Amino acid sequence: MSEPRPFPLPDLQHASTAPLWKAAARGEFALPRCRDCWAFDWYPKGHCRKCHGSNIDWTTLSGRATLFSWAVVKRALHKPLAPIAPYVSAIVEIDDDRLTRFVTRLIDCEPAELRIGMPVEVRFADLGYPAVETGIMAPLFAPSTQ
Ligand SMILES: [Zn+2]
Repeated sequence: MSEPRPFPLPDLQHASTAPLWKAAARGEFALPRCRDCWAFDWYPKGHCRKCHGSNIDWTTLSGRATLFSWAVVKRALHKPLAPIAPYVSAIVEIDDDRLTRFVTRLIDCEPAELRIGMPVEVRFADLGYPAVETGIMAPLFAPSTQ
């Protein structure tokens, strides 16, 4: 019999996304942004999609967003994710720039009450929230309380 595969964890040291995880550990939601034209560089390419410059820096954002789409995963196709099912996989548009979409999980929500366009906000929680303790804080989202 083979060992069960561990819960999938991100590479916290990967240069393109390490600042995201470091910010989340501080309780901040940050994405890379061009310092010349203010366009976001997400998912990071290392250069600006708009002006093609390379003057990119990580910016702390409000953490407010709008629900673009979601799926309730009742039975994880990837077995290591089974302990956290059911969970809500989602795409949110960050309010700082609606053209920038962020793939995340929704927490603290009733799936039947989710609506496209509803306001959501970042919540920092363990990546394996709530079933698996990973020790990694992740920018997850929840329906806005404001
Ligand atoms: Zn730019």
